[in-house]
Amino acid sequence: MKFLKDISIQYIKGVGPARKRLFRNLGIESVEDLMCFFPRRYEDRTKITSVLQAQVGEYQLISGKVVDHEARKSWYTKKHVSEVVIDDGTGRIFCVWFNQPYLDRYFKPAARVILYGKVDVYKNRLQMVSPEYEIIATDEDQSLGTGRIVPVYPLTRGMTQRYLRKVVRRCLDKYRDDATDLLPVWLRNKYRLSSIKRTLENLHFPESFEMQESAHRRVSFEEFFFFQISVMKRRMSVVRKEGTAHSISSKLINRFAGAFLFELTGAQKRVIDELAGDMRARPPMLRLLQGDVGSGKTLVAVFGCVAAWANKKQSAIMAPTEILAYQHYRTVQKMLDTAPFKGLKVALLVGSLKKKEKGHILDQLKSGQIDLVIGTHALLSEAVDFKNLSFVVIDEQHKFGVRQRALLSRKGNNPDVLVMTATPIPRTLSLTLFGDLDVSVIDEMPKGHGKIATRLYGIDQAQDVYKQARTLVESGQQAYIVYPLVEESDKLSLKAAVKMFAHFKANEFKGLRLGLVHGQMKKQDSDMIMEQFKAREIDILVATTVLEVGVDVPNAGVIVIEHAQRFGLSQLHQLRGRVGRGQTQGTCFLIADPSTEDGTARLKAIVSTLDGFKIAEQDLAIRGPGHYFGRHQHGLNELKFANPLTQIDILEIARKEAQEIVRQDPDLKDSLNIMFAKIIKQRYPDYLEMVEAG
Ligand code: ADP
Ligand code: MG
Repeated sequence: MKFLKDISIQYIKGVGPARKRLFRNLGIESVEDLMCFFPRRYEDRTKITSVLQAQVGEYQLISGKVVDHEARKSWYTKKHVSEVVIDDGTGRIFCVWFNQPYLDRYFKPAARVILYGKVDVYKNRLQMVSPEYEIIATDEDQSLGTGRIVPVYPLTRGMTQRYLRKVVRRCLDKYRDDATDLLPVWLRNKYRLSSIKRTLENLHFPESFEMQESAHRRVSFEEFFFFQISVMKRRMSVVRKEGTAHSISSKLINRFAGAFLFELTGAQKRVIDELAGDMRARPPMLRLLQGDVGSGKTLVAVFGCVAAWANKKQSAIMAPTEILAYQHYRTVQKMLDTAPFKGLKVALLVGSLKKKEKGHILDQLKSGQIDLVIGTHALLSEAVDFKNLSFVVIDEQHKFGVRQRALLSRKGNNPDVLVMTATPIPRTLSLTLFGDLDVSVIDEMPKGHGKIATRLYGIDQAQDVYKQARTLVESGQQAYIVYPLVEESDKLSLKAAVKMFAHFKANEFKGLRLGLVHGQMKKQDSDMIMEQFKAREIDILVATTVLEVGVDVPNAGVIVIEHAQRFGLSQLHQLRGRVGRGQTQGTCFLIADPSTEDGTARLKAIVSTLDGFKIAEQDLAIRGPGHYFGRHQHGLNELKFANPLTQIDILEIARKEAQEIVRQDPDLKDSLNIMFAKIIKQRYPDYLEMVEAG
C-alpha cells in the first residue's frame, strides 16, 4: 500500500520546484496534504447567464471572448483604467478595473474568460466594474471552471484558483484510488457515510450541493470519531487506575461547612458532596468545576485539600499568576484559621521566592511537613517532590494545557484532580467535548454577591464615565480602569495604560491615589501595588488585563473597561466580576468604539445579562470553539472541518460509536481497532501522554 503522505506533490504534473515552494506556504507538501486541502467555499457556476438575458443590478456569471481591450489613465482621478470588451455571441459587455495595470497583459484578444460581478448600465451600455475574472485557456480549464460547482481555495501569493484547481484534479485522478479509508465499512454503512473516494471527489468537485454536504458530513464524522475515541480511551485508562481512596466522614464535611461566618450555598454543598464521592473512590478523580466568577469555587477546592489532610496526604493548588496564587494563599490561610484545621500547614511556592526560602519549602514538601502547597507554574519544576500528593487543584484551567495538568499529577500517585474554570462551557456541549471529565457546576451565587450594573458608552462619552467613576470613588469605593491586551506581546495596551495613568493623575482623577499594574512589570512590583490596592492605599488601579482572572478585592466597586470591543464577551464578564464582590452593588462602565464591525451590538449581550452561561453561548457562537477555549484546549484544534456547535447530531453518533468500541476493547488491540490506535496516537499525542502520565 502506498502512503499518500509520503508522496511529494512534485510527482503531480505541473508542480515544479518553484510551485512546490508556493504549496509549502499553504502547508502542503504531500499528496495527502493536497487531498485534504479543502475549499474555502464553492461557487455555483452551473448558471451562466447570456449577455442578452443579463439582469441589470444583479450579480451574474457571464462567459465569453475578449474582443477588445484598452488601457488609459482617467484624466481627473489619475487612476489607471483597464477596459475589456467581452462578447458571448448574444451581446457585448464592458468590464473595467482600476489601478491593476497587469490586467492589460492578462486579457489577450480572443481569450475565453469567465466573469462574475454586478451588471450596470453606463453610457447606454452594459458594464461590470471590477468583476471577478478567470481566463479559460484550455479544455481542462473549461471543464473545471465552468458549468459546474467550482471550488474556491484559500490561496497564497502567486497562485491562482485556476492553477490550483488543475493540480487538485490531476492529484485526485492519479492518487484518489490509493487513499486509505480510515472508517470501516460497517460504520460507513450504518450511518450512510460515503467512501473516502467519493468524499474527496465531492469535497473538491461536487456534483451537487447535496453531495458536497454529505461529503462534509463524512469528514466531520471522521474527525469527531477519532477525537472521541481518544477521549474515551483516556477515560477508560483513568478509571482502571489505582489512586487514593480517601475516607471522608460527613462529620468532616459538617465541620468544614461550619467553619465559615456565612452559610454555604446549596450549589457549594452539592458540589462538595460530588467531590467527596469521587475522592472516596479508588480510581483517580478527574473533575471539572465550573462556576461563574464569584460563585465560590475556591472554598470547594479547599474542602478537597482539607479532606486530603485528614487522610494524612498532601494537596496542591496551581494558579496561573503569582497574584492569584498569593491571593489563594491568603484566603486559604484565613479559611483554615479555625480550631479544627489549625494543624494543616500551608505554603506558597512561586518563582519569585528567594532561593533559600524555596529550598526550605522544597525540603518540607518532600518530607511531608507541608500539607498544602499553593503556587504557580513553579510547582511543575523538576525540583518539586512530594511525599504523598493525593489531591490536585488546577485553577482557571484554560490558562494551562493538558500537558501541564499531567505534569503536576505525575508528582503524586494518581492523585485526584479538580480543574476549575470560570469560563463556562454551555451545558449542551460540555459532556460531549469533555467526555473524559466529570463536570460539576456551581450555578448559584452567594447571597448578596454578584450584583453589577453594566453600562455601555461610546468613546465620545468617556469624560462622562470618568466623572461618574470619580463620584463613586469619592463616596468610598475603589475602581479599576482596564486596557485590553490583545496579544501577549502587544505593547500598545501597555502604552495606553502607562500614558493614561499619567494623564489621569494630572487631570480627571487629580488628587486621588492612583496605581498602575501591567504584565511587563516585575512580579514583586505588581504584587506590591495589588497589596496596596487591597489595603485601600490606592483608590484607582489602572491595569492591562493582568486582572482578568480571579482577583478578589471586596471594596472595589467600579470597573471601567476601555476599548471594550476588543475583548471577548466571556473575558468582559470575567473582568466585571472583579467588582460587586462585597455587599455594595458594583458598576461596570464599558467604553467602546462603536465604529468597529460588530462594535456595540455585540456588547449589548453583556449589558443585558449577568448569566455567564448565556454569555458563553454567545461568545462561542461568535468566536468558534477553537478561540473560545484557547489554544491548548483538548485537541479541539485538531477539528479542522467538524464544528461541535453546529454539528451536534454528528458529534453525538460519533461519540456513541467511539464509546462502544473503547468499552469493548479498551486497549484497541483487536485487529479491527488497531488502526484506530495508530490514528489517535498521531492526532492526539497529548491525550496519550496523559494516559501514560497517570
Ligand atoms: P470564584 O473563585 O468562584 O470566582 P471565590 O471563591 O473567589 O469565587 O469567592 C468569591 C467571594 O465570595 C470570596 O470572597 C468568598 O470568600 C466569598 N464566598 C464564597 N462562598 C460564599 C458563601 N456561601 N456566602 C458568602 N460568601 C461566599
Ligand atoms: Mg477564583
